Amino acid sequence: MQRITNYINGRSAEPISGEYLDNVDPSTGQVYSQVADSDERDVEAAVESARNAFPAWSKRSAEDRCKILMRLADLVEENVERLAKAECIDNGKPLSLARSLDIPRAAKNLRFFATAMLHAKSEVHAMEGVGFNYTLRQPRGVAGIISPWNLPLYLFTWKIAPALATGNTVVGKPSEVTPMTAYLLSELCTEAELPPGVLNIVHGLGAKAGAALVKHPKVPTISFTGGTATGARIASDASPMFKKVGLELGGKNPNIIFADADLDAAMDGSLRSSFANQGQVCLCGSRMFIERSVYDDFLDRFVSKAKRLKVGDPLEEDTDQGALVSGTQLEKVTQYVALARKEGGTILCGGNPPDGLNDRCKDGYFFAPTVISQLSVDCRVNQEEIFGPVVTVTPFDSEDQVVEYANGVQYGLASSVWTGDVSRAHRVAERIQSGTVWVNCWMVRDLRVPFGGMKQSGVGREGGDEALRFYTEPKNVCIQIPGT
Ligand code: NAD
Repeated sequence: MQRITNYINGRSAEPISGEYLDNVDPSTGQVYSQVADSDERDVEAAVESARNAFPAWSKRSAEDRCKILMRLADLVEENVERLAKAECIDNGKPLSLARSLDIPRAAKNLRFFATAMLHAKSEVHAMEGVGFNYTLRQPRGVAGIISPWNLPLYLFTWKIAPALATGNTVVGKPSEVTPMTAYLLSELCTEAELPPGVLNIVHGLGAKAGAALVKHPKVPTISFTGGTATGARIASDASPMFKKVGLELGGKNPNIIFADADLDAAMDGSLRSSFANQGQVCLCGSRMFIERSVYDDFLDRFVSKAKRLKVGDPLEEDTDQGALVSGTQLEKVTQYVALARKEGGTILCGGNPPDGLNDRCKDGYFFAPTVISQLSVDCRVNQEEIFGPVVTVTPFDSEDQVVEYANGVQYGLASSVWTGDVSRAHRVAERIQSGTVWVNCWMVRDLRVPFGGMKQSGVGREGGDEALRFYTEPKNVCIQIPGT
């Protein structure tokens, strides 16, 4: 059986303990590979390697670093089919989605930040005859990067690309649930001639390998994407050492449909935002609010379309929805649907595993697209992140009311507003508490904009200049003009 090893100092490295964890294909429920169960000794070796590589890598010109990262991006693109298939098997998502979204975006992340560094600016502040200040932005050293399972290579590269482009070296800890594409990336790093030690990848459990990385005194930067509870843990582990910490956390995103919207566009957008990647995108709209005058009609059409989504073998090209990522995740989603029933919800479709799975997938972790109505906006199902193909629907009567509903959760990651009224779009966008507001669209991403969440959806912003700033330390140099 294939073994996923660590990548330290440019080489494949067995975990020091010799221990491995089973890695399951969620569409079959079968173990198909094993992943290194690393501990603090592996993290120590990776940090040491990254520290040794830092002086030379940080002194290379941005152009040099750019060339290497662009080579890596090209290799990701050349291997799109292989990587997409690996991600499909590792994660359960449809192959078509991995091929069209996840892997191309990984290449794009690398290119975007490699070239962004070529155009990076630094500030100068003149002090009217007294002197002037300029700001040096310097890489901080080793960046510890911890990523989740839902968009494995997409989110791993989203973090390593700006860290490496700015001259930091990296120790990455991908999710133990989906380690395969990061492992394949490490092979491509060798082919791209990324110098040994610049990127190190340590696999294993969050509470063991991840926590050791967060607590390591020689890792001044921690960038984390994952759940809010884990983020709180990481913040408390890192803060006594005054590390620079970026946290991209969970969401409970509102999807608001006004009666004056292009309802066909809102329908298509809402189906995607509710169920894409089995609802396992942090940006998915899991709470749908529909203006009362169109509520019944829109909901009927939405439910009948949700019922027609093809749930099944992720390797089949016409599959809309694959498997949930793990048995744990399936259990969590199942329990939330049971809770919805207890809280008075009506299950309009789904609510259980789908029928008609092929033989290969009969033991996989599948769940049908689920729409639930009749819940109060403050019940647990409407307040807590489920992270699965489950969406709740609630009617609303006014702009004020829906803004109150939208903002009535602890999260503030993303939202969508569907309306034909431009003034309303601006008004509502301004009032919604979320890091991103999409108007008449969903998940349209410009990598230059600040990306992140408000409230308990995160701390800090990634993307564009924000990311270049996050991975560098500003130093002010003040020079007095002689004679003043
Ligand atoms: P998770 O928090 O369980 O795990 C994320 C990563 O953290 C994994 O690599 C895990 O091994 C590691 N980890 C766990 N405990 C740790 C610890 N104590 N110290 C250090 N590392 C630790 O999250 P998940 O289940 O993998 O991902 C789903 C969550 O991620 C959802 O809440 C989703 O909303 C969120 N998410 C957020 C964004 C965003 O951009 N805001 C993007 C994707 C996913």
